[in-house]
Amino acid sequence: MIDTLQNRDAKTIAGIQKLRFSPHSAIAGEGCYLIEEDGRRLLDLSASWGAASLGYAHPAVVNAVTGAIRRQAGASILSAVNQPAVELAEKLLSIVPGSDPRKVWLGHSGSDANEAALRAILAATGRSRIISFVGSYHGGTAGSMSISGHSSQTNAPKLPNSLFLPYPNPFRPFLNDQSGAAILELLDFHLASDCPPEEVAAVFMEPIMSDGGLIVPPPGFLKAIQDRLRPHGVLLVCDEVKVGLGRSGLLHCFQHEGLTPDVVTFAKGLGGGLALSAVVGPADVLDFAQAFAMETTCGNPVSASAGSAVLKTIQEENLPDHAAEIGHQLLSGLKSMADRHPLIGDIRGRGLVIGIELVQDQETKAPATLEAAKVVYRAYELGLVCYYVGLHSNVLELTPPLILSHQETEQAVAILDQAIQDVEQGRVSNEKIGGFKGG
Ligand code: PMP
Repeated sequence: MIDTLQNRDAKTIAGIQKLRFSPHSAIAGEGCYLIEEDGRRLLDLSASWGAASLGYAHPAVVNAVTGAIRRQAGASILSAVNQPAVELAEKLLSIVPGSDPRKVWLGHSGSDANEAALRAILAATGRSRIISFVGSYHGGTAGSMSISGHSSQTNAPKLPNSLFLPYPNPFRPFLNDQSGAAILELLDFHLASDCPPEEVAAVFMEPIMSDGGLIVPPPGFLKAIQDRLRPHGVLLVCDEVKVGLGRSGLLHCFQHEGLTPDVVTFAKGLGGGLALSAVVGPADVLDFAQAFAMETTCGNPVSASAGSAVLKTIQEENLPDHAAEIGHQLLSGLKSMADRHPLIGDIRGRGLVIGIELVQDQETKAPATLEAAKVVYRAYELGLVCYYVGLHSNVLELTPPLILSHQETEQAVAILDQAIQDVEQGRVSNEKIGGFKGG
C-alpha cells in the first residue's frame, strides 16, 4: 500500500519546525490554489503564512528564477558582487522612504533580517536597551526571539534590559482604554525611571501585530511612540515581514500610521515563496563592521531575482490597490455574516490581512481556542486553507495571495461561513483535530 504524504512527513520532518499543522498536503500549486495528491484543489487563504504573495507558480517568479539559475551569477554575496543582488538592493532603496545614506542587508527569512537589524543596531549605537511589545513575533532565532513577546516563546531568553509594552488591542483593551493612552503613560513612566531613553537603541514594532492576534493599532498610537523616542535618538524599526509590500492596501503598512521608520525589515512575501529577506536602514548601522552578520547564501542571485520580480509585479499590476479593493470585499463579506455566528467576536484588518477572533461568549470574550482549530479543520474539508494566530490561538488569520479575485473572495466567504456554522453546530469532533491543533 502506498503511504500518504502526511504519514511520510510525520516519519521524516522534524516536529520542532511544525506549527498549528493543517491537514493538507500539497503536490502542486497554481494561483491561489494548492493541489492535493488526489487532485483536490484548496483555496489558500494563508498564502503559506503570507510568503506566496503572488500566489503559486506565478509566471513572473517562474521566469525570474528560471533565468537566474540558468545564468547563475554566483551563489553568495559575501565575497563577490552579483548583479541580481545589487539590482534588488537598488530597487528596495528606491521604494522605501527614508533618509540617505542607507544600505540594504539581504538574508533568507524574517528571523535573520530582524536578528541582523538588532545586532547591528546594538553594536552601532552602543546602546543596550530595546523596546518592543508583548505578543510581538520577530522570529525564531536566538536574537530575534530575545526581543519577541509572543506567548509561544516565553521560554526563550530575552535581551537583558529590554522593555516589553502591551500592544494596544481595541477588542481587549489594556486597562479598558481603547485609545492606547494608558500604554503611552506606562512608557512615559518607564522612560522617566528604569528605562532612560538615551540608553534605548531602538523600538521594534509590527504595524499590525499579526502572530500576536491580528491586531490593528488605534490611529496615532505608533506615531506617538515614535514622537516620544525619536528626539532621544532611538531608532524605529518597522517589521513589515508579514504585512508589508502591498498586503495592507498600501505598499508599506507603516504608511497607514504616518510613520517614516529608520529601519525596515522584509521577508515572506518579498521572495514570493523563495527564501529571501532584507533590512533597509542607515548606512552607519548596516556598514558597522565587516563579517558581522552573514550567511553564505545571502544575496544569492536566484532568490534576489525572485525578489525583484515580485516587487516589479506588485508595482506594475498595482497590487496594493487590488489588495485594498479585494480586502474590502472580503472584510465586508465576513462582517455581513458575523451576526449569524455567536462564535465570531470580532473581525478586523487592513487590505488583505484580516483576522476573525473567535470567542466562547460574546460578553466575557473567553477565547474559543479549540473551536478555532476546528474551523481550520472544517474549512480544509470544505476546500479552504487558513491557520490561526493569537496569544490564545483563537484568531483565524487570512493573508491570501495578493492576486485573489472577486470570485475567489466570494468562495472564501461562503466556505468560512459554512465551516464556522458546522463548528457551532457541533459537527466537528475533538478527535478529528487531535493531530492538527496546537503550537
Ligand atoms: N516578523 C513577523 C512580523 C512575522 O510574522 C514573522 C513570521 N511569522 C517573522 C518576523 C519571522 O519570519 P520567518 O518565519 O520568515 O523567519
